[in-house]
Amino acid sequence: SHVEKRVVKLPDGTTVPCIGQGTWYMGDKPQEKAKEIKALQLGIELGMKVIDTAEMYGNGASERLVGEAIKGRRDDVFLVSKVYPHNAGLDKISVACENSLKQLGTDYLDLYLLHWRGRIPLEETIEGMEKLRKEGKILRWGVSNFDTEDMEELWNTLNGSNCATNQVLYHIGSRGIDFDLLPWHREHHIPIMAYSPLAQGGTLRKQLLTDPTVNEIAKKYNVKPLQIALAWTIRTNDVIAIPKAGQEQHVLENAEAAAIELTQEDLNRLDEAFPKPRKKVPLDII
Ligand code: NDP
Repeated sequence: SHVEKRVVKLPDGTTVPCIGQGTWYMGDKPQEKAKEIKALQLGIELGMKVIDTAEMYGNGASERLVGEAIKGRRDDVFLVSKVYPHNAGLDKISVACENSLKQLGTDYLDLYLLHWRGRIPLEETIEGMEKLRKEGKILRWGVSNFDTEDMEELWNTLNGSNCATNQVLYHIGSRGIDFDLLPWHREHHIPIMAYSPLAQGGTLRKQLLTDPTVNEIAKKYNVKPLQIALAWTIRTNDVIAIPKAGQEQHVLENAEAAAIELTQEDLNRLDEAFPKPRKKVPLDII
């Protein structure tokens, strides 16, 4: 598939497809569950094997739904979950991880992320992550919602540079990280995971859908505006986008976005319509 052809390299040399699947709010409504499971499974078949969840999502409902969706196909997916900051201390992280594994019906995670920075010292969380890695409960670990200063601090902490990725908000309507965080990541060869790559909903999404440049480019490729937005986030092959789609039609469209190769001219026009910041802006967070 197109998704599998475009891969992003992790620091340990493992490659993963450039588009995965988010699962926030999945499993919340019982009447939607069967549909959501089918959507996730279709996504896996189309190569979107990176599946992102968190202990926070629906208090375990998302992890349980993912567990159902991947039953019998554990080896076909790259499973990501996240620990709450208040569970990221040495005493609690192994319990939290064990709980996630149980909900997901697996005995290891491909990637475990600190969901955002809390009060526990980084050093302690890293120690907990490294312990889980040695025990084989997780294959690698990373962070989420870390701004450039946080990444610097992480790099200056013992074993901090074992971090595999940083999952942050990134879409064409919110490109603050283009100023400093993304360049930092490139310098250190650490890919970014882009969350809310379709602008989630709300006003920024509307702006994207009605933007004349996005619409013209979409027409040129005979695709939808949001597919252009998704193709934009993965344009450099060091960003893994994780759109969430509970509907099979959306899953298909997202997978197809990997086939769109935006030209330099397209990118220049999009830069004009959605300029990147000329100075530091604090990391956008949901
Ligand atoms: P997205 O930008 O992925 O948008 C999701 C919404 O877009 C859903 O309503 C979905 O509808 C819709 N959608 C998906 N594909 C299409 C399409 N092709 N055309 C039209 N609509 C579409 O937002 P999220 O906030 O969900 O971000 C993605 C994932 O990132 C999350 O699910 C979560 O896993 C992760 N995340 C991580 C955070 C963190 O702090 N680390 C914070 C926020 C998100 P439908 O479901 O009906 O198909």
